[in-house]
Amino acid sequence: MLIDIGVNLSNARFEKDIEAVLERAQESGVEKLILTGTSIEESQAVVAICDQYTQKFPGMLYATGGIHPHDASSFNRESATALRDLAAHSSVVAIGETGLDFNRNFSSPEDQQKSFEAHIELAIELRMPLFLHERDASKRQIEILHSYRENICDAVIHCFTGDKKTLFSYLDMDLHIGITGWICDERRGLELQNIVANIPLNRLMIETDAPYLTPRNILAKPKNGRNEPAFLIAVLAGIAAQRNESEDELATATTATAIKFFNLPS
Ligand SMILES: [Zn+2]
Repeated sequence: MLIDIGVNLSNARFEKDIEAVLERAQESGVEKLILTGTSIEESQAVVAICDQYTQKFPGMLYATGGIHPHDASSFNRESATALRDLAAHSSVVAIGETGLDFNRNFSSPEDQQKSFEAHIELAIELRMPLFLHERDASKRQIEILHSYRENICDAVIHCFTGDKKTLFSYLDMDLHIGITGWICDERRGLELQNIVANIPLNRLMIETDAPYLTPRNILAKPKNGRNEPAFLIAVLAGIAAQRNESEDELATATTATAIKFFNLPS
């Protein structure tokens, strides 16, 4: 059994065939998905998907509630209340996605930090884990996390694509690391391939970030180019190729880690 800890299932590209996508995930052994909430609206949308499919796919779908750093300028007092309401929903298992993204600064760095800190404070108050994003902002992200770390119960850096120094800074704070199909890219994934073996087995989780980041090691490439949770096995293979563990060992360990991290019924 595998758990995909990052799926953007409210994306319009899944609208037409969501049930078939979930069935293919099951057929590939991907039995639980954590749907990523990236704004108040998208978080509500993924929670609604969890509700809608709870009968047909019992125990399969969970969600995060949060505002992506790109959207951080939308954060206001109402969003704090909305986040709190979302977090109370039984399918919501983490606060996020949140964090800092100074790559394109779709929201100003100041707005991103304000939103990020509000998410952290809510997670601390509710004793929930954080689902974190970071791009080109590791220095500030590490500083902020460091100042809150002793009160945060757990946090995962999802879709980690940073360098070795950044990886070790996160691991030094005892954070978890999420790895996507980025590692399956023979060009831009090279640095990640070289450092992934440094992640302790009990700090590693796997994700597709579907519909984005289709693993390049898939033999039968999807015609529409869309990534989906069934392709998590390609991410698993991409990681196993760089570590001294079999795919089976990695599957067992990452699943156990995700169950514990998100406090899922096993
Ligand atoms: Zn992200």
